Amino acid sequence: MKNERKHDLLEQFPLLKSMAAKNTVLWENTNWVKQPETSLFTMQEVKEAEETLQRFSSYLKVAFPELEESNGLIESDILEIPAMKSALENKYGVLIEGQLLLKSDHALPISGSIKARGGIYEVLKHAERLALANGKLQVTDDYERLASAEFQSFFQQYTIAVGSTGNLGLSIGIIGKKLGFNVVVHMSSDAKEWKKALLREKGATVVEYEADYSVAVEQGRQEAELDPMCHFIDDENSKDLFAGYAVAALRLKGQLENMNIPVSVTHPLFVYLPCGVGGGPGGVAYGLREIFGEHVHIFFAEPVASPCMTLGLMTGLHDAISVEDIELDNKTEADGLAVGRASKFVGKVMETYISGCYTVTDEELFTSLGLAIDSEKLFLEPSAHAGMFGAIRLSQKGQHYLAQRGLTKHMAQATHLVWATGGSMVPDSMRATYLAKSRDLV
Ligand SMILES: *Cc1c(COP(=O)(O)O)cnc(C)c1O
Repeated sequence: MKNERKHDLLEQFPLLKSMAAKNTVLWENTNWVKQPETSLFTMQEVKEAEETLQRFSSYLKVAFPELEESNGLIESDILEIPAMKSALENKYGVLIEGQLLLKSDHALPISGSIKARGGIYEVLKHAERLALANGKLQVTDDYERLASAEFQSFFQQYTIAVGSTGNLGLSIGIIGKKLGFNVVVHMSSDAKEWKKALLREKGATVVEYEADYSVAVEQGRQEAELDPMCHFIDDENSKDLFAGYAVAALRLKGQLENMNIPVSVTHPLFVYLPCGVGGGPGGVAYGLREIFGEHVHIFFAEPVASPCMTLGLMTGLHDAISVEDIELDNKTEADGLAVGRASKFVGKVMETYISGCYTVTDEELFTSLGLAIDSEKLFLEPSAHAGMFGAIRLSQKGQHYLAQRGLTKHMAQATHLVWATGGSMVPDSMRATYLAKSRDLV
């Protein structure tokens, strides 16, 4: 980006100075509307995703015995975390009005992160398409058949490729190899060693890059284009991924009803989603806004070094601006969020859907990691802790937002839902390293 252009942007968006200095910010989206619409995506695609996942439930139950209990459904619980709420209030000297809940996607079956929604769905949908097109399957069949040796060798002819900071690769690798596909994962420099090792153990090919996520994705895309038998899972543009993530919203509605938690004018729901390239949080946000309308307030959380979605939405430039353009280095311990350039597709959809974005420091992430273990015996990977700061940022910097939406007087009945995006697969030695780091801070 040219220097003059940068200068103009800094003039136009004063918050950029703060972001460039790696200060934490809360950005309010002035394009938010009560009833958002988009021409880029429909709820029909979400319903189809839900139905596809349902068809695969009998297969999933056989392929992954841990899904026996949920009848083949990949879903996570909502947990109350009152001790964490007190710990955060004490540590940061704020009052969090309302209830603090955790959406425990860190414990999602199969791959232990939010990627078990979108990533697994896209692989299943692709497998189904191939099997149907080759006359090996009908939608009325019991999909348990897909676990047979016959299908394994059928899928072996095909390759699935993906570019990832870690967790998407892990999800695609696990489900892809289970079905019998060849899997190639292009891993950015941020990707953790244990994720690469686990993937290789499962039989996936891991290609490592010294560069960041965008480069890993681009290389993967180019390689895959040369191979007609290869399907590239495009984290920056995929509507299938987006649809798989959005299914969470349909399920969340039922979960909140079961817990007798209303979502209304007087009972606002705040949802805080850690954001990398945008697909995961975007899909969930889309679904939630379609379901709960103006009563759900969604904020994306990003590291101070990697606020790509904040930048893209604020400037309206989407993927035409990167964090490097404001001299940020995209270096963070929150590996799942180390993305310098946001998805244009997701940014475009989100323009009128989300309430805003905020940023967090790595120090805050590790502080929260320690507090969660001490208060709730809860381990989440650093990225997932970004969501813990939503209610805090709102109480620190959100007065204007709350007043403008007429929410101030309803905050005692508010629900704050922290989307815990990953963690249960992190090995013990890595947990110990993270914990030691947090001990130095807390
Ligand atoms: C991938 C990931 C996210 C963000 O999802 P995007 O689709 O990249 O925005 C958040 N947290 C964790 C732990 C992740 O792995």
